[in-house]
Amino acid sequence: MFETAIKWSEREFVHLPWRVERTLYSTLVSELMLQQTTVSTVINYYRPFLDKYPTVEALANATEEEVLMSWKGLGYYRRARNLHGAVKEILKKHAGIIPQDFETLLAIPGIGAYTANALLSIGGDQQAFPVDANLERIISRLYGLRKKKGPKLQKEISQLFSEGKIITNREKYSFRALAETLMDVGRVFCQANKANCSECPLSKNCMAYHMGNPLGYPLSGEKKASQKQQQLELLRILVKKDGKVLAYKKNESEWLSGQLEIPTFILESEDKKLTQYPLLNKSFDLALLKNFKTGITKYRINNFVAELSEAEFKQLGLDMSRYSFYHSDPSVSNYSTSTLKAFNKLD
Ligand code: SF4
Repeated sequence: MFETAIKWSEREFVHLPWRVERTLYSTLVSELMLQQTTVSTVINYYRPFLDKYPTVEALANATEEEVLMSWKGLGYYRRARNLHGAVKEILKKHAGIIPQDFETLLAIPGIGAYTANALLSIGGDQQAFPVDANLERIISRLYGLRKKKGPKLQKEISQLFSEGKIITNREKYSFRALAETLMDVGRVFCQANKANCSECPLSKNCMAYHMGNPLGYPLSGEKKASQKQQQLELLRILVKKDGKVLAYKKNESEWLSGQLEIPTFILESEDKKLTQYPLLNKSFDLALLKNFKTGITKYRINNFVAELSEAEFKQLGLDMSRYSFYHSDPSVSNYSTSTLKAFNKLD
C-alpha cells in the first residue's frame, strides 16, 4: 500500500538536512523545530543550531538565554524551552543518552506522546506512529474515518495502530520511512483545505478519494468563536547606559517568556483585565513620541517609544528590582522583536 509513496518521498526529500545525518538527538531537535513551522523555514535554522549544539551535553550545558537566542526566527519559544529542559533531564537522569522506550521518554519533561513516538519511529526506526493533526488527516482520509477531528480521533488512530488495525503488513515497511512519507504526503498533496489526489502516490488505496470527497475527512471540529480584536496602547521606555539597555526578562506567565523587553507600560487598554504590563501613572505627550504597530493574539497594539535617562526613569517611582542593564547588541542579548523595533525607532 505504501511502497510507491515511500519511494517518492525518499527520492524527493532525502536531501532534507535532518534526514541526511540522523541520530536520536538530531531527530529530537528537528521534530521540535518542525512543530508549527514549515520545512522551508526550519531548513535555515537546523544546521546552525546543530553546529552550535552538536550533542545533548552541549545543549544541556548552554544557558536558556543562549538557546533562545539560537532559536530566534523560529518562534514559538516554548518549544526551545521544552527542548532545553528535555536534554538537561536526559543528561542528568540518562547520562546524555536518549532513551528508546515510550514510557521513559514520556516521563521526560518537554516530551509528549507525539514527540516520543516521533523519536521512536523517525529517530529509532521502531514500530511507533506519531499522530499529529497532519497524520490524523491523512489516516482519516486513507481509511475513511469520517469522525470529528481533534485529540479524540488522534487517540483513536493511535489505538487502531497499536491494535494492528491500520498499517498492516508491517514487516514490509521501515517505520521511519513510513512516518516521513505520510508527513511528506500531507505537506505536498493532502492538505487540510486542498487535496491533489490526481498526483498523490496514495490515491490507489485512499478511501476518501474513492468516495469522491477527500475534504470531507475528517469532519471539522467545533469552530472557535472568532475573537474580538482589542485595542491596546503601550509605552516602551528606552534607558541607555554604557552601551547597555535597561530591560527585564519575561517570565513564564507573560507573552514572549524568556525574552528581554525594555520597560513597557499600559497607557490604554480596551481589555481592562489585561495584566501583561503594569499601568503607568504618569502622562506623556504622545504626539511627541514615535510609534509603531504590532499585534499579539487578539490585541492590536500601538507602541509609543520614549527615551529617558536613568535618573528620569527612577523618578517614575517604579519598583526597580525587576530591571537590569543588558548588553544593547541584539546578537548578545535576546530582545523581543517589539523591543528591537523600539530600538530602531530611536536610532
Ligand atoms: S488521495 Fe487525496 S485524500 Fe487520499 S491521501 Fe492522497 S491527497 Fe489525500
